Amino acid sequence: MCRHLAWLGRPRSVADLVLQPPSSLLVQSYAPRRQRYGTVNADGWGVGFYAEGRDEPVRWRSARPLWADPSFASVAPVLRSGCVLAAVRSATVGMPLEESAVAPFTDGRVLLSHNGRVDRAALPPVRDAESTVDSALLAALVFDRGLSAIADVVREVAAGDPGARLNLLVADGHRLLATTWGDTLSVLVTAEGTALASEPWDDDPAWSDIPDHHLIEVTPDGVLLTPLEPA
Ligand code: GLN
Repeated sequence: MCRHLAWLGRPRSVADLVLQPPSSLLVQSYAPRRQRYGTVNADGWGVGFYAEGRDEPVRWRSARPLWADPSFASVAPVLRSGCVLAAVRSATVGMPLEESAVAPFTDGRVLLSHNGRVDRAALPPVRDAESTVDSALLAALVFDRGLSAIADVVREVAAGDPGARLNLLVADGHRLLATTWGDTLSVLVTAEGTALASEPWDDDPAWSDIPDHHLIEVTPDGVLLTPLEPA
C-alpha cells in the first residue's frame, strides 16, 4: 500500500528528499520496488515539515498522484527543513478518495502517516478525525492517547483486528517515531541525519531493513529499536 518517508537532520530541500533520488517517493508512486499490497500509489500524496520560527508544521496535500503535481515540483527545491515527513497513497478498497484522507495527518506539532489498513469497526470511537479513512481514525486515536502510548495503541488495535497492518510514521519536529507491523521499513543513518522510508530511495548499502513488529525512535542522538510484542 502506501509508501512513506521521514527525515531528521541537517536541513535539506523537499525536492532533494522526495523528488530527486533514483527511487524517490515520486518514482515509488508509480514503480515501487518493495510494495507488498497494491502496485501504484496514485490516490494522492502529502508532505509536512517544520519551518523556522513556527511551532506547528506546514503541510501540502493533494488527491492527485505526485507525478501530476508539477507546480509543487517547481517550489520543492526551495522548501528546506530538518524534519520532513511525506507519503504517497494507494487507497484501501472502500476508503474515501479525497485530499483530507491523504497523509500526513496533523495535530498541534505532530505529523502522522499510516501505511496499512485497519477495520474501522475495530477502532474505539475518536474525536476530530480529519477524514473517515481508516488511517485518519487511527491517527486521531494516537493523537488522543499521546505519542508515548503509540506502542500500546498498535498492540491494542492489532488485538481487535488481527488482520490490521499498522506501519505508522510520526514526526514532532525534534524526533521521529515509527512502527513496523505488517509492512516494510528501512533506515539510513548518515553524518547529515537519519531517514526512515518504506523502501530505500537509492541503492546505498548503508540502508538497513527494520524487522517487523518493532518501534523505532530517531533523535539527534541516534536510533532506538524496541521489539513490539503482540498484546
Ligand atoms: N488505508 C489507508 C488508505 O486507504 C492507507 C493505505 C495504504 O497504506 N496504502 O489510505
